Amino acid sequence: MSHFNILVVYPHPADSATEASGTVALHAERGDKVTSVVATYGERHHMQWIADQKAKPEGERDPDLATMTIEDYRQFKKRETERIADVLGVHDLIMLGWTDHEIYFDLDKVHEIADLIRKVKPDIVITHYPWADGPTINDHPSTGRIVMKAIEVANNRVREFDGVDAYHGIKQVFFSFAGGEEINSNDFFIPGIVPDLWVDTTPVIHKKVKAIDQLASQGYEGETARWIVEARDGRWGMNAGCAYAEPFLRPTAIRYDSLPMPPSVLGVEHEPTELHSGRGTARNVPSATPPEAYRLKP
Ligand SMILES: [Zn+2]
Repeated sequence: MSHFNILVVYPHPADSATEASGTVALHAERGDKVTSVVATYGERHHMQWIADQKAKPEGERDPDLATMTIEDYRQFKKRETERIADVLGVHDLIMLGWTDHEIYFDLDKVHEIADLIRKVKPDIVITHYPWADGPTINDHPSTGRIVMKAIEVANNRVREFDGVDAYHGIKQVFFSFAGGEEINSNDFFIPGIVPDLWVDTTPVIHKKVKAIDQLASQGYEGETARWIVEARDGRWGMNAGCAYAEPFLRPTAIRYDSLPMPPSVLGVEHEPTELHSGRGTARNVPSATPPEAYRLKP
C-alpha cells in the first residue's frame, strides 16, 4: 500500500487545526488522501471575535454584527474551517452541522459516521482519544466513542439485512490528544496515559501555525497560535526527541514480524546536550490570517 486514505474526525473546527494537523499536513504532502470531518461549526466555542467586536465603539464594529444570526456565524466558522483544510492540504472537508457543545453518544450519530466510513473507505482513522470525560460529557471523547462504535457498526453490516455491505478496510485507528488528557511524558512506566507513538511534525510546523492563524473567531491567531505550538507541540517534541511532535495512542498493541528498529531509533547518536539549534521555530512563522478572517460576511 503506497498511498493511504485517511479519515480524520473531530468535533470542532479548531480541533482540525490544533490536534493532529501537523500529521495531516505531512501525509497530504506525501500524497495520501485526507478527508477531514468536522462534526459541528464550533458556533459556541471561545467567542473571542464577538467579545472583541462588542468592546469596540458601535461605529467601529463589523456592520453585520447587529443583525447576525446563528446561520451567519456558522458560515463564518465554515469559511474558517475551509481555510484550515486548504492550509493543511486536506482533499475533502465534510461538516456535519451537529450542535456545538451538545454531542452525545446516540444511534443517529453513530449511523451517520458509519455511512461516512462506508463512503470514504479509509485505511486509517484519526480521532480524539475517547476516554477523557471529566464530570460531564465532553464533545471530544464523545466524538471518539461515536467513531469507534461507527467502525464496529460498519464492520458488522450484512447486505441481506441492511442493504449495504460491511466495511472491513480500516487497518489502524490513531487517537490524538488536545494536551492534558495524556501524561506529559515519554516514559511508559509513569502512571497514566502515555502516548505510544510520536510523529515528528517539525518539517510542517509552519503549516500548523498557519492553520491555527485562521481561527480569528476564537482569538487563536497571531501570538496565541505561536504560544500554543511552542508551549505544547514544543513540549511534545521535547518528549519525543525532536523540535515539534504530535502524540498518538493506538487502541491495541501492534504485532511485528521481528523487533522494530526504525531509522529514528537506529540513527540516534550521542549528543552531550540535545540542542534546539537548526530545528526551526514556530514563533517566527509570518502571520497567515487574511483580512476576511475578521469579517462576519465575505
Ligand atoms: Zn474542540
